Amino acid sequence: MKQKLKKFYYKYILRKKYIRTGFCLKCGQCCQNIYIKHDKKVIVDEVEFYNLNQKGKYLDFEIMGKDDTGLVFKCKLLDEVTKLCKNHKMRDFICRRYPQEEIFAFGAKLAQGCGYKFEPIDSFEDVLKSVSRVKL
Ligand code: SF4
Ligand code: SF4
Repeated sequence: MKQKLKKFYYKYILRKKYIRTGFCLKCGQCCQNIYIKHDKKVIVDEVEFYNLNQKGKYLDFEIMGKDDTGLVFKCKLLDEVTKLCKNHKMRDFICRRYPQEEIFAFGAKLAQGCGYKFEPIDSFEDVLKSVSRVKL
């Protein structure tokens, strides 16, 4: 019953497609392979990032590389030795909520070995049943 209520809450109240399970293993990987979404799109260009920096934005991040999705950043607040956040108590809301399924929408994925998982709310059988109820 508890699981059914949870599914209902995620699907109809939060409008999610997945339920997040698991927990953080404090490996720090998600703090060093980051895409930054600005104005609803991933930052892909060094000049754009430089200009945003000049306006005081994203100063805690440095560019590590670039791939097909965009620039890949590392957060300067990650302690290299402990792999913990140096600003844990005051970290941003986005860090507190991480990971959310929205990251998949712009090509990101969970780091390998991350302790979290996303499970579809509707099983394959549920989807099949709903499709077969639709009259063609
Ligand atoms: S990658 Fe996953 S397990 Fe590792 S620190 Fe980030 S949220 Fe935690
Ligand atoms: S502020 Fe802390 S939790 Fe957020 S990305 Fe940086 S190191 Fe990670």
